[in-house]
Amino acid sequence: MWRIWKLRLPLDDILKRIKIAIVSRCYCCDNPQHEETVQHLFLIGNLATSVRLYYTSVVGGIGPMVKLHQTVWKWWDFNCSPKLKPNKQVASAFICWQLWKRRNARAHGETMSKNKVIYYINQNLYHLVVTRYLWLKNIPQDWPQLVQFLEGYKPIMKIRRVQWRYPIVRWYKCNTDSALRGNPGACSATFYMRNNEGDVVFSSARRLADTTNICAEAAAI
Ligand SMILES: [Zn+2]
Repeated sequence: MWRIWKLRLPLDDILKRIKIAIVSRCYCCDNPQHEETVQHLFLIGNLATSVRLYYTSVVGGIGPMVKLHQTVWKWWDFNCSPKLKPNKQVASAFICWQLWKRRNARAHGETMSKNKVIYYINQNLYHLVVTRYLWLKNIPQDWPQLVQFLEGYKPIMKIRRVQWRYPIVRWYKCNTDSALRGNPGACSATFYMRNNEGDVVFSSARRLADTTNICAEAAAI
């Protein structure tokens, strides 16, 4: 994506710009009549258009775009459910990546169908969800179902009452806590000792060196 963004892929329009003379034909079309350009390969060529349509048609709000940079931004910025958001943000990168891999395969004499490209992109998106949300079951592998699944996801709420209890006679109870500004960030930790009447018998607090929330809680203990 960085190379696309900076126009640093060895595509014909870019090579021409740095004065390397070539007869340009794209690898993405079956009957190539087009020069190979970044815009053609990733956005406006037949294959790119058709692959992108498969992804945009189910999310809404990302119409056909004129510029690749604009398209990437649109995918990145677009508002949707928090569960779907990370997938939407990278979808554009996965699309470009697989289009690029198909282009290279064809440049070296191999073939790859549009369905195969979509299959690979779907696999990328699916694996992202699997690794990110380990607790989710029955995650669909196709984009339209995946969008529906993540948009409609409702977390299961369980309510449990939590209560502070007095320690037994001759025992003390120690409660700890920490507070941070940012994570990692400036932090402090504190603890309270209480007897079986619930009275504070000792307490202390101190500033700690900047650290993470987990380390701060551990330091408090
Ligand atoms: Zn083409």
